[in-house]
Amino acid sequence: MLIGGEHVRGGGKPLELLDPATGQVIETLASATQADVDRAVAAAAAALPGWRATPPGTRAQCLLALAQDIEERAAELAAIESRNTGKPLHLVLQDELPAIVDCFRFYAGAARTLGGPAAGEYVAGHTSFVRRDPVGVVAQIAPWNYPLMMAAWKMAPALAAGNTVVFKPSEWTPLSVLALQDCWARRLPPGVLNLVVGTGATVGQALVRHAGVRMVSLTGSVAAGRSVQATAAGNLKRTHLELGGKAPVLVFDDADLAAVVAGIRSAGFYNAGQDCTAACRVYVQRGIQDRLLQQLADAVASLKVGPPGDAATELGPLIHPQHRERVAGFVQRAADLPRARVLAGGQALPGPGCYFQPTLIAGLAHDDEIVREEVFGPVVTVTAFDTEEQALGWANDSEYGLAASVWTGDAARGMRLVARLEAGVSWVNTHFTYTAEMPHGGVKQSGHGSDLSVLGLHDYTQPRHVMWRH
Ligand code: NAD
Repeated sequence: MLIGGEHVRGGGKPLELLDPATGQVIETLASATQADVDRAVAAAAAALPGWRATPPGTRAQCLLALAQDIEERAAELAAIESRNTGKPLHLVLQDELPAIVDCFRFYAGAARTLGGPAAGEYVAGHTSFVRRDPVGVVAQIAPWNYPLMMAAWKMAPALAAGNTVVFKPSEWTPLSVLALQDCWARRLPPGVLNLVVGTGATVGQALVRHAGVRMVSLTGSVAAGRSVQATAAGNLKRTHLELGGKAPVLVFDDADLAAVVAGIRSAGFYNAGQDCTAACRVYVQRGIQDRLLQQLADAVASLKVGPPGDAATELGPLIHPQHRERVAGFVQRAADLPRARVLAGGQALPGPGCYFQPTLIAGLAHDDEIVREEVFGPVVTVTAFDTEEQALGWANDSEYGLAASVWTGDAARGMRLVARLEAGVSWVNTHFTYTAEMPHGGVKQSGHGSDLSVLGLHDYTQPRHVMWRH
């Protein structure tokens, strides 16, 4: 772990890290104790006055240096990430590492734009202005599906805004963030960024309870979000929650069918579907349903499942045997429904790795479990609808509200629907396209707060009013 600029070994229970492609233990790490967490928070508190007083341009230099380090070590980091998560190596290198580097660079620039509304005389004889100050010590808790990318999305804006951080990676996937220990320690003053490892129930909760932490930022499941918010209520900490999703995909009769098929093949199955915005809940207008199912079944069957190191692999294994069992349970219960038609996949693949076939299930009703619950695996469901109102009603009838997409050739319909969709991000004729300049975050139980963009930066600041009597 990294505490106050020192590399330290945790004093807590050992964590076994698995290679999901083989099911073998690749490393055992000691997790943090309560005393380790206390030291990490104390180190972040001690570093806060110096870091918040560091000019934004200097903070930006630190983030740019980190971006450079990550870019130079991209191949090594991609290999570590691929081994710990089972992601296809070539995709981590091609998609994730450049986005991680770009995130640090974006926030290096954004750090220098922070400011409040200009001064004004709102009361006669007084001048007011707003400062945007850092919140303080921020605890950040990340999931396993994009370990280093989620770290970048969290650390970069928090550090850019002048906060100090105690970061906890997922207990399943801490290796890429830990591999950068030397860089974090070299590029940032001691204590500005601290890393602790451990489970959510122990180390995560210790951070959320901690009186020295001012804000908790979590990316994870809705259950973890509820638990974090409940514990944070104990001392009224600010929370920033990026939680689960179940993205509806509304396909209308007038959509470009080839684009829809390519879009779902990619966005429904990227990262083996272990993505909070995965294009997994398809509602198709009845007139185009048969053609869509025929083409999509072929497209899904053509996806290449294989070892992470193979350059042709599109889907690697799922993250963990427990998770594969959970995915298989959802699929089995759905397949048992008389109306369900499994058009592709449907089974775990034999062998020691956690592989699961890319799966397409049609004929389902909006109320079926697999259509409503987050499966977080390579599983796409298709349900037919008749009218725009029905599709919109079903899309919004969900406890989640993270992402949605509309596929139509009618621009007016696209505009009408994005105005009424309850989703933090709504795409039209695309799905799963990100840019650092635009925010990412949920509504309803998908959480609150924004990652990415200047809104993400603002989330890690506290606006304060200053009034000056003339
Ligand atoms: P998870 O909720 O099991 O764990 C996420 C992190 O929270 C881990 O570091 C874990 O140790 C910690 N944690 C768990 N319970 C906790 C508790 N009670 N107190 C404090 N910390 C706790 O999630 P996961 O399985 O790692 O990730 C998958 C989930 O993350 C999915 O639901 C997915 O949709 C969501 N996710 C959301 C986004 C987004 O941007 N909204 C992005 C990626 C993943």
